[in-house]
Amino acid sequence: MALTLSILYRGPLASCNYACGYCPFAKRRDSAADLRRDRQSLERFVSWVEGRPAADRLGVLFTPWGEALTRAWYRDALARLSLLPQITRAAVQTNLSCGLGWTERGDLDKLALWTTFHPSQVERPKFVERCRELTRRGVRYSVGVVGLREHFADIAALRGELPPGVYLWVNAYKDVANYYEVGEAEWLTAIDPHFPTNNTRHPSRGRPCRAGHTAVSVDGDGTVRRCHFVKEPIGNLYADDFESVLRERLCPNATCGCHIGYVHLPELRQDGVYGDGLLERVPARYEHRPGGLCHQSPESVAQASRPVSERLFPLPLHVSSSGA
Ligand code: SF4
Ligand code: SF4
Repeated sequence: MALTLSILYRGPLASCNYACGYCPFAKRRDSAADLRRDRQSLERFVSWVEGRPAADRLGVLFTPWGEALTRAWYRDALARLSLLPQITRAAVQTNLSCGLGWTERGDLDKLALWTTFHPSQVERPKFVERCRELTRRGVRYSVGVVGLREHFADIAALRGELPPGVYLWVNAYKDVANYYEVGEAEWLTAIDPHFPTNNTRHPSRGRPCRAGHTAVSVDGDGTVRRCHFVKEPIGNLYADDFESVLRERLCPNATCGCHIGYVHLPELRQDGVYGDGLLERVPARYEHRPGGLCHQSPESVAQASRPVSERLFPLPLHVSSSGA
């Protein structure tokens, strides 16, 4: 029977060319042996996908500890995967610091980028130009920012500068309890209508979750876990009986607070929100058209074409609208 499965792949790669203050992988270096192991692990994974029947419906999202696209083997893997009939999506989380010529080798109907802007690491105009290049090339992508207070001015400016129709998500900062002051969550919701969902640690213990059934996490050794947040292995991708471990399960964790996890909670109905953009975090109403543009719904386009001052809400008092 054909297999329908979303696979979040995370190999050993842990190095990154950026040094974000909120990240434990900032400027980490991998040894030559680490990189060799990562490359070999990825090759094994891609070969496994290539060996699957053409009738399978497989979505792949690379969710590296560090930055993947600075490594040629991840760029090659994405292009290769996107050309397979059994692949419905080949996506990656990236800081977008790499060149983009490699995307020409992939199938743009299946390739997608989950990009994140890190204000302390790259000038906004440079990041926005990369986004415009993605749009010109017809690559499907979302853009996100961590919703720290010191990022608010950049978030506001970014919404005005991104090509209309590109979804800008904001990851709620949840490391500090009750971080947002009065009005701030509403302000962020005006930019990202799905911010309230992300700003919640969803109660999940004992509740049905599709993770482990129609979505799994896979590491470099092929160890399969239901998701990145439940450490207990449930099988191995390279074992003959791999498919037998896929079944409905109840979540053992108290809460689930990341997009890549809670979208698999049926009660949140996020599959209806994101449709086939679930992996790269592009809501279904941001319609993608091959040929170079992502389009929002007509009402969203009307919203985006209003003057920035009207469309971008009153800023909180302590945030300058100049972006300074
Ligand atoms: S770009 Fe991503 S992986 Fe790299 S330091 Fe920043 S948050 Fe961490
Ligand atoms: S609810 Fe979240 S933590 Fe629990 S199994 Fe699902 S994805 Fe994993």
